Amino acid sequence: MSKVEDFLSVKEEEEIVHAIRQAERDTSGEIRVHIEKTSHISHYNRALEVFQMLKMFNTQQQNAVLIYIAVDDHKFVIYGDKGIDAVVPDNFWDTTKSVMEQYFKVGDFKQGIVEGVLKAGKELKVHFPWHEGDVDELPNEISKS
Ligand code: CA
Ligand code: CA
Repeated sequence: MSKVEDFLSVKEEEEIVHAIRQAERDTSGEIRVHIEKTSHISHYNRALEVFQMLKMFNTQQQNAVLIYIAVDDHKFVIYGDKGIDAVVPDNFWDTTKSVMEQYFKVGDFKQGIVEGVLKAGKELKVHFPWHEGDVDELPNEISKS
């Protein structure tokens, strides 16, 4: 895999964006996906950096979640904002992670991301249900670098 652009086809990207829109119909939480080739710092710290870069702290309930993927490193991180951490157990994202791992293990990256997004939405819904007048606070497009 030479470029991060080759990782997903246009159609696959559309499916992921569709999944984000679908997930955000159930929760006030905001979900974003960032994909890049590799990270030179720890993946957790890089996810935090990307979270800041994308200004994902900019939600009213501080309930945005970033799914960060470093393709060549075969690593991903799910990073949720303070508002989520305040009301969930430490292992909150484990179910979402294991769903994604199941698909990644067999090389189905697109479906792993789609299922991860949908699962994250379902998990968020419990604590941050969608409400009338909800605003789409963060873009649903995939971020790449
Ligand atoms: Ca929203
Ligand atoms: Ca959004």
